Amino acid sequence: MKDLRKKRILVTGGAGFLGSHLCERLLQEGHDVLCVDNFFTGSRENIIHLLDSNRFEFMRHDICFPLYVEVDEIYNFACPASPLHYQADPIQTIKTSVFGAMNLLGLAKRLNCKIFQASTSEVYGDPHVHPQKEDYWGNVNPIGIRSCYDEGKRCAETLFFDYHRKNHVQIRVARIFNTYGPRMHPNDGRVVSNFIVQALQNQPITIYGDGTQTRSFCYVDDLIEVAIRLMNSQEIGPINIGNPTEFQIIDLAEQIIQLTGSSSQIIHQPLPSDDPKQRRPDISKAKALLNWQPRVSLQEGLKATIAYFESCLKLGISYPG
Ligand code: NAD
Ligand code: UDP
Repeated sequence: MKDLRKKRILVTGGAGFLGSHLCERLLQEGHDVLCVDNFFTGSRENIIHLLDSNRFEFMRHDICFPLYVEVDEIYNFACPASPLHYQADPIQTIKTSVFGAMNLLGLAKRLNCKIFQASTSEVYGDPHVHPQKEDYWGNVNPIGIRSCYDEGKRCAETLFFDYHRKNHVQIRVARIFNTYGPRMHPNDGRVVSNFIVQALQNQPITIYGDGTQTRSFCYVDDLIEVAIRLMNSQEIGPINIGNPTEFQIIDLAEQIIQLTGSSSQIIHQPLPSDDPKQRRPDISKAKALLNWQPRVSLQEGLKATIAYFESCLKLGISYPG
């Protein structure tokens, strides 16, 4: 007899950093996983260990185009998340967020199934309210270099709520704050992977601006746990998920130098335009509604991430100079 608790779950962006951890966790829980990815920033290496499972299936597909599959739940994680990569092809980034959301919401509507959206703290832009709560509407430049991502994700949220209001689609919208961990790509361009890769090679640590801008870093395992809790709850969101402990970027650099025992020097490079000056989630909603709070400290998470990049180095994966 079929176990009704076991589902067939679609994870878009499943070959990326977060998506691959999510696929792994859902398989561990006994579900069947259909992973869809176009390998824009994801890679086969992230999911190679899952390919042996007969409950895991991979499909190479761009979510800008309609997808006809039969599943019980959808997690939409497809979208480049690093400023370096989402700015490389900004029009494709908007298409992924907007056309991708429309295609997947259409699928969820036909299947009458739950759909989770990996939204972002970027919907708050360079925030005037600190820490950021879900009822803050944000401060986003509509025509800047980050807009393809920020406005794309904002439009996707609009689509999610309109499909919910008009078509009763069961949505789950999570606003994810900076998350890091093993399987970030060494050339990803985001701050944690950049600093660790630089430190491990005793290369200069590149701080953009004076390093006083802040971020709050969540370890991947904490993030995946709360994403699944949200999906399994009755909440539609939007709901902030992330770690509320805030650090200046300069503190992050110093901590990574210390943990790696690196001889790297800190150098300063120009701050990219529209780079948010501060970011910290108010997670009271996630705490109260999902009974969740992050468990992994920055130091603990950094150690695991450093070990991962060390093993990449040993395997001879080359990093940029
Ligand atoms: P990532 O770049 O590692 O993963 C994104 C994945 O989506 C990649 O595998 C990529 O190949 C795939 N992809 C991109 N465009 C696609 C398309 N058109 N069709 C199919 N696949 C496509 O990034 P990540 O950090 O794992 O982020 C995953 C999701 O979480 C993204 O939607 C991102 O916006 C969101 N998010 C992440 C963070 C974070 O700190 N990691 C913060 C906020 C939001
Ligand atoms: N940053 C930095 N050096 C780097 C990469 C990023 O100083 O090599 C800074 C960046 O300017 C930003 C912060 O670190 O202020 C976080 O950048 P990231 O690209 O990781 O994410 P986001 O800006 O989207 O939060």
